[in-house]
Amino acid sequence: MENTIIKDKFNRPLHDLRISVIDRCNFRCQYCMPADQFGPDFVFLPKSALLTYEEIERLAKIFVQIGVEKIRLTGGEPLLRRDLPVLVSKLSEIEGLKDIGLTTNGVMLKKFAEKLKQAGLKRVNVSLDSLNDELFGKINGRNIGTKPVLEGIEAAKQAGLGVKINMVVKKGLNDTEIVPMADFCKKNGLELRYIEFMDVGSTNGWKMDDVITKRQIYEMLKEHYELEPVNPAYFGEVAKLYRYKDTNVNVGFISSVSESFCSSCTRARLSANGQLFTCLFNGNGHDVRNIMRNGATDEELTRRISEIWNGRDDRYSDERMAESNKKRKKIEMSYIGG
Ligand code: SAM
Ligand code: SF4
Ligand code: SF4
Repeated sequence: MENTIIKDKFNRPLHDLRISVIDRCNFRCQYCMPADQFGPDFVFLPKSALLTYEEIERLAKIFVQIGVEKIRLTGGEPLLRRDLPVLVSKLSEIEGLKDIGLTTNGVMLKKFAEKLKQAGLKRVNVSLDSLNDELFGKINGRNIGTKPVLEGIEAAKQAGLGVKINMVVKKGLNDTEIVPMADFCKKNGLELRYIEFMDVGSTNGWKMDDVITKRQIYEMLKEHYELEPVNPAYFGEVAKLYRYKDTNVNVGFISSVSESFCSSCTRARLSANGQLFTCLFNGNGHDVRNIMRNGATDEELTRRISEIWNGRDDRYSDERMAESNKKRKKIEMSYIGG
């Protein structure tokens, strides 16, 4: 079937799909799943609610037909989902899909890197917010040190996967790690992306005062390194990139709070239970799973997904501080996958 490009109300195409494969996690990062809110009694999705790999594959094919070129698997912690390489290999067979990535906390990456690469995975983004074991253990809420994550990063490099590092920066928590992380990543040829602490969900106690902005981080880095801007590789690239002068190592910023990029946002998100979200901050998901489980044909699913995207007018980050946004129902990052 011919691919058709669909556009939303602001003429933004749908290029990029994040698929959460699980809402559980082996970490309790303070900024994402605080341990006091996601305790032993927290009710996660039952297995029957999760999209099966066959359902994900079917939906992914439909998304590719309406313009998606990149898929990123996320969670919760995606490597907790059993046999993830099986899903990757199914997705890698889809004609027209140019890129499959994975976002992970890296703890189980050493075990899976080679299998994922063989299955067709192209790149991994590994979250690492500190190199200091004690601080890292405190941030992840599980006292897990950096060792398994660093070993996972090394294994991914050895397997030939593209590796980027994500660091969420929260004032008073890990801002002291900004320069050490830059040093580490520069030395190891890894692209580090600083992520501004975001007001996702309703459990992480977000305050604007806790945000260290892209500009502040950039100014800190400039005291240590010479940086030159790098042009975006494609429309909708989320990270603003710089290169350390006289190297081929980039460093990036995801400035969703201080410099929003809604006008070029071409990303949809599919939760582990098959709810389609057109914005990280739009709590109203569209239930695609039940339409599918109720027997919809591919044509009917394509029509429904296209209608949802055509009706999209989200630009939350552009309007973050508007009164009307303060009472918004928001979804948790661990559910929607970042
Ligand atoms: N568990 C995997 C991981 O941590 O990489 C994948 C899921 S996690 C929700 C995806 C990304 O969202 C991670 O890079 C994480 O650091 C980021 N994230 C989580 N909560 C955030 C917040 N409040 N603000 C900014 N980024 C956040
Ligand atoms: Fe888990 Fe990732 Fe959220 Fe941390 S950021 S709690 S690793 S889902
Ligand atoms: Fe995209 Fe919504 Fe984020 Fe804006 S706020 S960049 S529309 S996900």
